[in-house]
Amino acid sequence: MQMIDNYNFAGKKVIIRVDFNVPLGAQYEVSDDTRIRGALPTIKKVLQDGGSAILMSHLGRPKSGPEEKFSLKHIIPALTDLLGMEVRFANDCMGEEAVVKSAALKPGEVLLLENLRFYSAENKIKTDEEKAATKVFAEKLSTYADVYVNDAFGTAHRAHASTAVIADYFDENTKMFGFLINKEIEAMDKVLYSTEKPLTAIMGGAKVSDKIQVIENLLDKVDNLVIGGGMTYTFIKARGGEIGNSLCEEDKLDVAADLVKKAREKGVNLLLPVDQVLSDKFDNEAHTEVADIDQGKEGFMGLDIGAKSIKALTEVIMNSKIILWNGPMGVFEMPNFQKGTVSIAQAIAESTAKGAFSLVGGGDSVAAVNKFGLAHKVSYVSTGGGAMLEYIEGKVLPGIKAIKG
Ligand code: AMP
Repeated sequence: MQMIDNYNFAGKKVIIRVDFNVPLGAQYEVSDDTRIRGALPTIKKVLQDGGSAILMSHLGRPKSGPEEKFSLKHIIPALTDLLGMEVRFANDCMGEEAVVKSAALKPGEVLLLENLRFYSAENKIKTDEEKAATKVFAEKLSTYADVYVNDAFGTAHRAHASTAVIADYFDENTKMFGFLINKEIEAMDKVLYSTEKPLTAIMGGAKVSDKIQVIENLLDKVDNLVIGGGMTYTFIKARGGEIGNSLCEEDKLDVAADLVKKAREKGVNLLLPVDQVLSDKFDNEAHTEVADIDQGKEGFMGLDIGAKSIKALTEVIMNSKIILWNGPMGVFEMPNFQKGTVSIAQAIAESTAKGAFSLVGGGDSVAAVNKFGLAHKVSYVSTGGGAMLEYIEGKVLPGIKAIKG
């Protein structure tokens, strides 16, 4: 496999699949540039070697054809600032303009193509007809460049034209991962394959169903598995606890019971919260009470973990050498229910300062560490929630397979 560190891009046109699917504000300004910053090392390497960079990405979920709010032109000011140079733009990733502008690109120059998903061939690939259209689309993109670099970890779990199919049109010496994907893989492998112990996974968020596969796969690897957030209550109900109006997936009670059994068989220390903050409304100003985790009551829902749970989890986290965190411990978007999530984030930061390796991934936990100003205090913040979870589930990601084989 070709490695970006060893490659000299001098004189090459390089098409880079980046993940510029960033949140935009009311005036279409970039409100979180994490993903753009994530792509900079790869872009800069190409330019510094004397290559030219053609950047392609999707933004949002356009339904059919161009939509102003999903135009990648909104990214230009942020990208120009971050790169400190002019960024050219092609208003259409397929048309004559893209062909002419990519052909005219000189060493050291950058061209950004308009949103790939303005063409359904990028990501609607079910029927034979759609598959054929996707090949044509991917092949056309490949003609703009000599080299293909995939650095879009956020979409590596999708078998789309620009993330996977395009790789077929480059030989193994002229396709490679960018620095970001390499870093993401390194961080995930460190969690999955490290021999350092104890390894603790903290899984929170709303639904068990989203995370069953990951939890199952983690049971073979972790020493401690912490369950928190809304999915706690499916486990509590499964063991006969009273959950009142807390979130529960009735059809997953068996699954939860089975996971508890498997954890016991495999010698995994499964930690559920022991207490909770109950609330009579899904509202920051609601009336709240603290109760043991099995003692929910009618008319109340558990929206955060309580102080005893925070103490127990902090201890486990502080004694861990490797930590994976996905999903909040409570409804952290509301200040009155954020304490569990903040405390866990702080414990992870402290444990990291003591030498642990910590990987935080998944939209909401990343939003939480950013919100609490702790992102720089953990070892690695993943740019891809879905992709990270699928990798940890043990799935082969199409974007990775397309290059690695
Ligand atoms: P997920 O996308 O599955 O990771 O879930 C994240 C969401 O779970 C966040 O928006 C949280 O507000 C929500 N959440 C966390 N804990 C609870 C809870 N106890 N009850 C309801 N929602 C929760």
